[in-house]
Amino acid sequence: MPSEPQRTLRSILPGVLTSGMATLSERLPENIPGRYYVDASCIDCDQCRALSPQIFARDDGKGVSYVVRQPATNEEIAQVEDILATCATSSIGNDGA
Ligand code: SF4
Repeated sequence: MPSEPQRTLRSILPGVLTSGMATLSERLPENIPGRYYVDASCIDCDQCRALSPQIFARDDGKGVSYVVRQPATNEEIAQVEDILATCATSSIGNDGA
């Protein structure tokens, strides 16, 4: 549970101050159904798309990334987990489904 100042800053600067995990209720509708998703806190830094363009795409209108294809192999899953762990704003989630 973040401290009160952290919670206040997160509400002021969504996507800049991270709580450490993506928020399922803020899952972007552009994501293809499945376990992995990007939430609304994405700041369009391009890292996920650069590292895995087959999994992540850009919504040019919104200026955010989304999951265009779910990872299908153990290698792809490991890669997406690495990207999830290094997203600066913790905007990539795994709903465990
Ligand atoms: S790495 Fe995170 S912040 Fe950067 S584009 Fe991907 S989801 Fe958005």
